[in-house]
Amino acid sequence: MTQISTEQLITEWQALLDNTPNSVCTSTQQLSEQHAPELAQSFYKTMLDDLTAAQFLSNDQVQERLSGSMQQWIITLFSLNRTDDLRPVIAQQKHIGEVHARINIPVHLVLRGARVLKDTAAKLLHNHTEEKACLAFIYALIDMAMEVMSQVYAVSNDKNSRDKESYRLFSIAQNSANEKERQRAALLDWENQTMFDIAMGLQFSQLNSLSSSEFGLWFRHKGAHAFAGSDEAPLITESFENIDTVILPMLKLAQKDPKQHQQLLRTLREQTRSIAYHLDTLFSQVNQLESGRDTLTQLLNRKFLPVVLNKEISYARKHERHFCILIIDADHFKRINDTYGHESGDVILQQLASLLSNSCRSGDYIFRFGGEEFLMLLVDMTADKAAQLANKLRLAIENEEFRLPRGVSVNMTVSIGLAQYSGHPDPQVLLNKADAALYQAKGTGRNQVIIAD
Ligand code: GH3
Ligand code: MG
Ligand code: MG
Repeated sequence: MTQISTEQLITEWQALLDNTPNSVCTSTQQLSEQHAPELAQSFYKTMLDDLTAAQFLSNDQVQERLSGSMQQWIITLFSLNRTDDLRPVIAQQKHIGEVHARINIPVHLVLRGARVLKDTAAKLLHNHTEEKACLAFIYALIDMAMEVMSQVYAVSNDKNSRDKESYRLFSIAQNSANEKERQRAALLDWENQTMFDIAMGLQFSQLNSLSSSEFGLWFRHKGAHAFAGSDEAPLITESFENIDTVILPMLKLAQKDPKQHQQLLRTLREQTRSIAYHLDTLFSQVNQLESGRDTLTQLLNRKFLPVVLNKEISYARKHERHFCILIIDADHFKRINDTYGHESGDVILQQLASLLSNSCRSGDYIFRFGGEEFLMLLVDMTADKAAQLANKLRLAIENEEFRLPRGVSVNMTVSIGLAQYSGHPDPQVLLNKADAALYQAKGTGRNQVIIAD
């Protein structure tokens, strides 16, 4: 965000003071000294009438402290004249803006308070000999103070959000290996204990629900926060609820039917294992979350795709440029895993990723889009050029020897869906087009490039 420098602010404030007659400054100062409590009250009353603000400022506090400093603020501001040092005044406005941001007072409420303050001043100045000039001066002073406050507010607020986010990452990155083992063990402990309790014929009401278990508490209070926004967190929550509200109650009803009982126990085990699996995935993503790079391939993490697409769309709109996306999906990759093992599959994906990286320009972007899917964003390029590039890429992959340990080499192919940005502002439209083209490439023989219409 571009900041207006203190020097510039001082110049502007000084110009206002220089252009205001002494008599106006004096009248304004007198007004503030005589009516400071009324003026301050009008400001805070508006804010207190608003429920959101009322939760930050209790009435007592306003009476005791805030009203006092508010009156002081009004007197200082309304008493300014051309010989005053403006630095401390501007510093004070900045400080107030910082405080507002820290306690999350919405900026529109402060502006609302300022408007009421202006109205009150107008009423008080009614029929005053210099009514018009005083009001113009007061309005300008308040506007300038608000401008400085809200600029600082925006910067602090931004920083707060960033801090929150880095804290979130920090909270999981710290000791993540230990935490992972601990929570995995806690989850499996719960499963064992529950299975044992059921085998011992404990009643449903005596079973410890998953959400009240050690693992459940951790997940509800820390894990869900730390992993907020991931694909896996909602899946874990879903399994959780399924276990506590469906499977466990049904076990009670199924006591007399051994077949159904067994089936439910199996489901319980599957659900617990699925939680453990998602948990592993979440923890293994901790590092990549931090760096923004995918750990296996070092390509860009998919979570940045919306940011980049929005950025490129607004660039293309503004500069009337084109760009294309390629969705590149490995053909029959499951067979490769089945034949050579999952680890070899990983090695091949790494080699494929570096081949992709070496095939595009440094202005382009490559994301790991899914397991064996990649997304390439080719900037400043139309579909015909992009199709040439995609076909060259496809051939290069087809001819590449993917090397595995012990001298084994593997061949593979990819299918590619290509779409050119059409001017539609929604990135999802572009993604859907490329996806449909990829689907067509898969459905009509694979190892080919299809251009979206
Ligand atoms: P298609 O040609 O239709 O794309 O067939 P496919 O087998 O590639 O596609 P499918 O979607 O059926 O399966 C994708 C496979 O990719 C299954 C999954 O095990 C594998 N895969 C996904 N991510 C990874 C990964 O990170 N490492 C490894 N080794 N394999 C992965
Ligand atoms: Mg595939
Ligand atoms: Mg796929």
